[in-house]
Amino acid sequence: MKNIKFYSTNLKAEVVDFKSALLKGLAPDKGLYMPKEIPTFTKEEINKFSQMEYYEIAFEVGRKFLHDQIPDADLKAIVKDAYDYEVPLEKVYDRKYVMRLDQGPTASFKDFAARMMGRLMQYYLDKEKRELLILTATSGDTGSAIANAFYGLDKIKVVVLFPENEVTNRQRKQMTTLGKNVQIIGLDAKFDDCQYLVKDAFSDSELDYLNLSSANSINIGRLIPQIVYYFYSYAKLRKSEDEEVIFSVPSGNFGDMMGGMFAKRMGLPIKKFIIATNENDEFPKFVKTGNYNKIEPSKNCLSSAMNVGHPSNLSRFIALYDGVMDETGLISKVPDMMRLREDIYSTSITDEETREMIAEAYKKYKLLLEPHGSVGWAGLQRFLQEYPEFDDELCISLETAHPAKFPEQIIDILDFDPKLPPSLEGLEEKEESYDKVLNNYEEFKKYLINNY
Ligand SMILES: *Cc1c(COP(=O)(O)O)cnc(C)c1O
Repeated sequence: MKNIKFYSTNLKAEVVDFKSALLKGLAPDKGLYMPKEIPTFTKEEINKFSQMEYYEIAFEVGRKFLHDQIPDADLKAIVKDAYDYEVPLEKVYDRKYVMRLDQGPTASFKDFAARMMGRLMQYYLDKEKRELLILTATSGDTGSAIANAFYGLDKIKVVVLFPENEVTNRQRKQMTTLGKNVQIIGLDAKFDDCQYLVKDAFSDSELDYLNLSSANSINIGRLIPQIVYYFYSYAKLRKSEDEEVIFSVPSGNFGDMMGGMFAKRMGLPIKKFIIATNENDEFPKFVKTGNYNKIEPSKNCLSSAMNVGHPSNLSRFIALYDGVMDETGLISKVPDMMRLREDIYSTSITDEETREMIAEAYKKYKLLLEPHGSVGWAGLQRFLQEYPEFDDELCISLETAHPAKFPEQIIDILDFDPKLPPSLEGLEEKEESYDKVLNNYEEFKKYLINNY
């Protein structure tokens, strides 16, 4: 197996090993870390996945990247501890499935990445007797997944910024009821503003003493775990060795989709990716026209975790197709648009279509979707309508959150209150606490210096 090193998408920072990429998060040149080489599985290796548990596949995927970094036994213990919950594959009709990534402790797919990353960071920090301050912005689900994944770890403190008007009560409560090493900050602003404050803090040398690290989807430690469920679902659902698969991924910052792109490069026979966004449609437009224009400010849509006007992982995606995009969205080398268009189909789903699909899916198939999963499923339906030749293919649409996280919408559309998963029971009664900061970098910096 090859030793995998990581380079920055801005191409100015040094190439580093996994540990540095994980603990740094963002590269010093503000680029994102990418593996210099993507390891591959043989067909025989992939065949064996059909007989494996989720955590065993997670071990095989992780080992391809980390074998020279973490001893097998330690890595196995980490994945076994991180993935102790179900990954349901729900048949909808024919060869069409929904993969529910909502059974983790915060009932969103972000648990998959956060739990693994938290354990990897803890592993290194323990060895080196160091401490870290995780600083992260959330549009709802990242923050709670990160806060829960790091809660109680003694080497790591966590500060999460969230836009007060863009998260649901339940999403907020999943963060603000924790306490201990977890501090939550509300901003009367948009998610993008939260993200800018975080980015500014990272590039501020006066804050170096805090040992800041990011847990946003820009951290490579979050992308590697997100490769696994693509392999898992395919291995469990394929009928023959040669069967190919189509995935539909409801997307915001494109961390989820990047996991799938890596899976494809690693040898998973993915015929097509459907990348479905909400009304923040900068990406589908880019795929269509080749021109990229970020949306500022981002639009507030029902699928709030996807209200992203400039996806933070986009420069990684561009790099996969041999292009270069900097952190501002400027493309200095055009990616291979032909190849990109062969691999993916991207479409934007309006809020109205999102609502209609929640109603239709339930009525037609008793398929219960929340707004994010509905965007993915609607994207798949649109694709199949446009390209009926793919009708018989194995298609897997990702459901990225539990419907019970969006009770207001579900009641409004379907007229019933979805049952809470066990992980969310008792949340309503817990006491909340969080601070507020003005949407202003100097204010935010003062807050950090005073508190840490
Ligand atoms: C974060 C999130 C997404 C979008 O994932 P990205 O990796 O940012 O594209 C979709 N659905 C839910 C529920 C999320 O929390």
